[in-house]
Amino acid sequence: MDHYDIVIIGGGLAGLTAAKTLEEHNINYILLEKNSTIGGKQRTDTLDGFQCDHGFQVLSTAYPEAKKTLDLDTLRLKPFSRDAYCYNGSGFTRIAHPFENIITNITAIHRKLLTPKDLFIFSKLAFSLLKKSTSEILESTEKSTLDYWKTLGFSSSCIYYFLSPFFKGIFLDNTLTTSSRLWLYYFKQFLIGKACIPEQGIQAIPEQIASHCSPNSIKTGHEVLSIEKNTLHIKNADSIKSKLIICATSNPAASTLFHFKKIPYQSVSCFYFETSEPLIKHKGLHLDGSKGLINNFHSVTHVNPIASPKNKYLLSFSAIPEYPERIIHENEIKKDAQRYFGNQTETWNFVNKYLIKEAVPVQQHVYSSIRTNLNTDHILMSGD
Ligand SMILES: Cc1cc2nc3c(=O)[nH]c(=O)nc-3n(C[C@H](O)[C@H](O)[C@H](O)COP(=O)(O)OP(=O)(O)OC[C@H]3O[C@@H](n4cnc5c(N)ncnc54)[C@H](O)[C@@H]3O)c2cc1C
Repeated sequence: MDHYDIVIIGGGLAGLTAAKTLEEHNINYILLEKNSTIGGKQRTDTLDGFQCDHGFQVLSTAYPEAKKTLDLDTLRLKPFSRDAYCYNGSGFTRIAHPFENIITNITAIHRKLLTPKDLFIFSKLAFSLLKKSTSEILESTEKSTLDYWKTLGFSSSCIYYFLSPFFKGIFLDNTLTTSSRLWLYYFKQFLIGKACIPEQGIQAIPEQIASHCSPNSIKTGHEVLSIEKNTLHIKNADSIKSKLIICATSNPAASTLFHFKKIPYQSVSCFYFETSEPLIKHKGLHLDGSKGLINNFHSVTHVNPIASPKNKYLLSFSAIPEYPERIIHENEIKKDAQRYFGNQTETWNFVNKYLIKEAVPVQQHVYSSIRTNLNTDHILMSGD
């Protein structure tokens, strides 16, 4: 039986980051990933020249761990513009970053999407967050995000047409019961950083981390089936022993291995369509807080021109299902998108869809450190 100082279970962002750190400290370890590729939730498919991430995901250049772990220049990040285009049932109104384009935001006031008080609240909050550390934010008084916005005094149109679809798209939470601590954390990240996608797609992030690890230390196609004390039993392979185990799987997989209660997850469905005309000519995110199926969409091609073949355009739509089992068909999205683009959506070619049932954990309570009730010191929990 092989012996290691540390075994990492899971080759997503968390497991790979642990591996990179152990590699830097010359520690004897092995990473076991059940799939044939690393990356976990951060995967990208290339289909007929179209680059499709498994769900709409962005990297903020302000994420503290990303700045420490990644070489952002090599990822050749493609930034979104810092404007959002908010749909109110009849048309789109542009909203700008609170510090950047005051004229745009005054127009949004004229169009009754924002009020002067909204701009004041954004600015006041922004200045106070700039002075706060991540742990101060994650230890602040906690309530639901929606209640927090109401307490701050945002107008209902700002909440309904801008804040709700923007942060539903991040938390994948239709009810906005996600912790206000997490909202403050993300609000700060988007305030000081830029939302980007790597030129080669989101999977370039885990691939870059893995490139710092010895290929012999990363074993794909190795599923850990069970753990008995320090012994890990692996599907179709010999068992191995380890002094320490880092579990970097998602919560449902960890709950099976360590027999604890699963936490609930949020779901999302993401659809990609090809168009022959550039229907959107900017790099902003479109948000729909009206009662449609679509929550947000953007032109992948305008953010990252190499994500589609020449003279073809890729649109990405995200919808948050009312319940995890709800299967949304691409034709429902095309039909819903007629509200913005008319009948021409019927000419679009469907490229691919990702119906992700366990996308991100429900996070009604957020802490500044991971809490588990595992009564042992040879197992560490990491990541989602
Ligand atoms: C649609 C979507 C949108 C998102 N948007 C963003 C965003 O915009 N910005 C952002 O920062 N984050 C976003 N996230 C979250 C981000 O993708 C995750 O937080 C992150 O990828 C989680 O990494 P992880 O390593 O913790 O877990 P995972 O990526 O889940 O990796 C766990 C790995 O463990 C492996 N595994 C499981 N069981 C076993 C086993 N028994 N044996 C061996 N291996 C096992 C799995 O195959 C997997 O590879 C989004 C996620 C989704 C799904």
